[in-house]
Amino acid sequence: MPNFNRLKDCVVTNKNVIVRVDINVPLNDGNIEDDTRIKAVIPTLKYLAENKAKVIVISHFGRPEGKVEPSMSIEQLVGRVQELLGSIKVNFVDDCIGDKVKKVVEATNYGEVIMLENLRFYKQETKNDPEFSRQLASLGNLYVNDAFSCSHRAHASITGIPSILKSCAGFLMEAELDGLTNHLENAKKPMMAVVGGAKVSTKLDLLNSLSAKAQTIVVGGGMANTFLYALGKNIGKSLCEKDLKDTTLEIIESAKKNDCKIFLPIDVVVTKKLEQNGKCQIVSVDDVKDDDIIVDIGPISIAKLTQELQNHKTLVWNGPLGAFEFKPFNIGTESFARIAAALTHDKKLVSVSGGGDSVSALNSTGLIDEFTYISTAGGAFLEWLEGKDLPGVGALSV
Ligand code: ADP
Ligand code: MG
Repeated sequence: MPNFNRLKDCVVTNKNVIVRVDINVPLNDGNIEDDTRIKAVIPTLKYLAENKAKVIVISHFGRPEGKVEPSMSIEQLVGRVQELLGSIKVNFVDDCIGDKVKKVVEATNYGEVIMLENLRFYKQETKNDPEFSRQLASLGNLYVNDAFSCSHRAHASITGIPSILKSCAGFLMEAELDGLTNHLENAKKPMMAVVGGAKVSTKLDLLNSLSAKAQTIVVGGGMANTFLYALGKNIGKSLCEKDLKDTTLEIIESAKKNDCKIFLPIDVVVTKKLEQNGKCQIVSVDDVKDDDIIVDIGPISIAKLTQELQNHKTLVWNGPLGAFEFKPFNIGTESFARIAAALTHDKKLVSVSGGGDSVSALNSTGLIDEFTYISTAGGAFLEWLEGKDLPGVGALSV
């Protein structure tokens, strides 16, 4: 991870500070369903306002694809931000560049917040258009990135502005970068990586990168089926990418070369039809029938994993171990979460998890706060874990 500038080291008083946040929250009928992402950036906004900066907040919201789309207006989020900021005044302009925006920024007092309209109403945002970046940058004298979850994208508001203005990481961004560096980059060994989820094809880079870093890789979820198939087992009607047989064998081979042990399910939960509360059975991976669908990891595997995990100091986990949206096929994921949480609680394990579905699976267990560190950054977390350089982080390096 490159060294990066931090907000606490920057002078902000009487400065126009542009803050890139990710307040891309889910809406239902215009109501905010989950305001986690808004709450997460409040400390940065509050700090800036309390230190008498003019706080210019920019974000994308949904995928309007370069068109003005009223259902994706940032205006819908202004009320919530105002509630959370209390006595700090929050203003809104229905554009993000141009004379109108300039005038409102000029008229705003230091110590107040101005939220600009959805960046992605302009197609120039995702195209990283230099002129669009210049216009955004002209509103401020300092740029703060507090959107780690967008930092794998080389967009105007992520890499364009910091190429023009002095830049630093906001508190949320700083916490993500420090969390990943402390717990994973400088991980205590041995490290166990658990990779689940639906498909091997979406996690090839991840598996290859982890096989060089971890001492054990546990393959679970639908992906495990492809591994079992590649090793000659019958997987019935389970989700499986048969065309990836050779690729999968290569992953197994390269892990071997790296002295990385690959752990596959020993027993599995099978059903005939993937549905809520579907009838199911626990069988050995050698006894899967032609009409079976593998939907979860079995109890013997979980018991073996529990033993294994005690020999590791760090756990990094991405991807549910079963089709957790269909109960009771959440049991494997939940059992493993419980064990990881207990070991973490006893200070025997550093546990890190992230990924869209992983976070929602862990949320539903109620154990999420027991983990050492949870990254809510989704794709950016995965790309970081894959060993890729994130352009938005590079742009803040000193
Ligand atoms: P993340 O978003 O955390 O990176 P993924 O998107 O890779 O995770 O995978 C999550 C999906 O994998 C879930 O929708 C889950 O239902 C699915 N899944 C897990 N195990 C199985 C399985 N055995 N068969 C089919 N789908 C599965
Ligand atoms: Mg997902």
